[in-house]
Amino acid sequence: MTGIEIRASIVNGSNTEALNMVLPSNFVELEWENLDYLGWRDSHSPHLGYIIRWEGNRAVGIIVREADGPLSRRRMMMCQLCRATHTEHGVSLFSAKRAGEAGLNGNTVGTYICANLGCSSNIRVEVPHASYYADPESVLAEKVSGLESRVSGFMAAVMRP
Ligand SMILES: [Zn+2]
Repeated sequence: MTGIEIRASIVNGSNTEALNMVLPSNFVELEWENLDYLGWRDSHSPHLGYIIRWEGNRAVGIIVREADGPLSRRRMMMCQLCRATHTEHGVSLFSAKRAGEAGLNGNTVGTYICANLGCSSNIRVEVPHASYYADPESVLAEKVSGLESRVSGFMAAVMRP
């Protein structure tokens, strides 16, 4: 995947927004096989982030914006994509402008996501007491398929006409 393909994949932003994207600093070292989606925060525009996934051979990407204001400090928050639970600083409310006319009319879709948009690495962190699980590989496989289907559902909501 090249930077050009990634910019061209954006379905909910203008050409200018796609051109202004700052690619992840580790872009050339990414381990694509361990990414259920590629997500990162824009180092020049801290409120912006990107989620790119593959549908067959085609990349589809969206721009997400972190909501202002601190989240509730009363409880642990769960990422709605990978279901990892973090304290309030680990999860942010992100909104995505909907594609096409809906987005031009100001419609957005929002959800709570790992603040670093790094769900793929978060679910691959070695689970303490992994020996409690009979089969850690199948636990991971389940997390991966859950993450993939929830990311795909979120993106479908962004692209719904
Ligand atoms: Zn997550």
